[in-house]
Amino acid sequence: MKTIYLDNNATTAVAPEVLAAMLPYLGELYGNPSSMHSFGGQVGEAVDTARERMAALLGADPDEIIFTSCGSESDNTAIWSALQTQPEKRHLITTRVEHPAVLNVVQYWERQGYHVTLLGVDGKGRLDLDEYAAALSDDTALVSVMFANNEVGDIYPIQTMAEMAKERGVLFHTDAVQAVGKTPIDLRHLPADMLSLSGHKIHAPKGIGVLYVRKGVRFRPFLRGGHQERGRRAGTENVPYIVGLGMAAQLAIDHMQEERVNVARLRDKLESGLLERIPDCMVNGDVENRLPNTSNIAFKNVEGEAILLMLDRLGICASSGSACTSGSLEPSHVLRAMGVPFNYAHGSVRLSLSRYTTEEDVDFVIENFPGVIQTLRAISPFKN
Ligand code: PLP
Repeated sequence: MKTIYLDNNATTAVAPEVLAAMLPYLGELYGNPSSMHSFGGQVGEAVDTARERMAALLGADPDEIIFTSCGSESDNTAIWSALQTQPEKRHLITTRVEHPAVLNVVQYWERQGYHVTLLGVDGKGRLDLDEYAAALSDDTALVSVMFANNEVGDIYPIQTMAEMAKERGVLFHTDAVQAVGKTPIDLRHLPADMLSLSGHKIHAPKGIGVLYVRKGVRFRPFLRGGHQERGRRAGTENVPYIVGLGMAAQLAIDHMQEERVNVARLRDKLESGLLERIPDCMVNGDVENRLPNTSNIAFKNVEGEAILLMLDRLGICASSGSACTSGSLEPSHVLRAMGVPFNYAHGSVRLSLSRYTTEEDVDFVIENFPGVIQTLRAISPFKN
């Protein structure tokens, strides 16, 4: 059975070009990039090239790129650094719809005595900039707002929010893990101080990430010890993965514009195909302003987990908007923050495409998905 992979916001396939670029560094080119000898030196050059490629994708300077182990480490580090460099400031601003890599960390700091503002969203997941303006204060150490949401794909007004933070002299971090490679980001015009990204969302392997830190922004490392990354992140560099991430960045530079258009066309075909064929369903999120690859659809009176299991039997990989916590199916914190009605939130499914999604994949899903919902509704205890 063919696998139809529509879970690219969870993780992506490693691009063949990325794998090919990495292999020599898992084999004969095993030197340490910090070594004085030329055997290590050639490896150091590959790390430099990867750093330049990543900087070019973001409109950054190579010196502003710190390689980390993942998006979560980058997020943790950004928050840690902002608090450590400004011990006199005791307030943090983020949103109710962040990934746990930010939300749980901020809540940890709240337990340590920090004051935290969690910005709310409306029914489409949009932030209220007046609420944000009112929350910014001289005591605010950091604003951390995701560039785009992993569950519904909404893109937030990061340009405006970063500018507002700058006007108040407040540090601004954005978790751009879902946005990089899917939507243009140019740090020459976007006044963010820090930005996080993750390799495995952009066709590089799992276990490699980046924290961008703007020149001039005071920084305190999270992982201390070695001199690597100019003393900003200890640990001998994960060379093969860094090289792979550099290649993934280069592929995004070369192909993002055309891929965005193609992926959005397939996503829209898939979404409208399902909405036309299945009664009582709706799209979660802001359809006017979201990532080109993401569709989150709520099916009334069915369990998201049951949908996923039946899709799985057809070879279709997706993910749901609810998580099994202590035996009960809780709708995700994102859908709850948006106020999606209970009987819709429970039946929410995220379909996320990539450059490798084909027309045939989409046609197969449009053909087979309606039967899944029909079967589940026929046995549902809810009244339909
Ligand atoms: N931030 C967002 C928005 C994400 O979607 C994810 C991964 O799902 C992360 C952070 C964490 O990235 P990583 O898996 O590289 O730690």
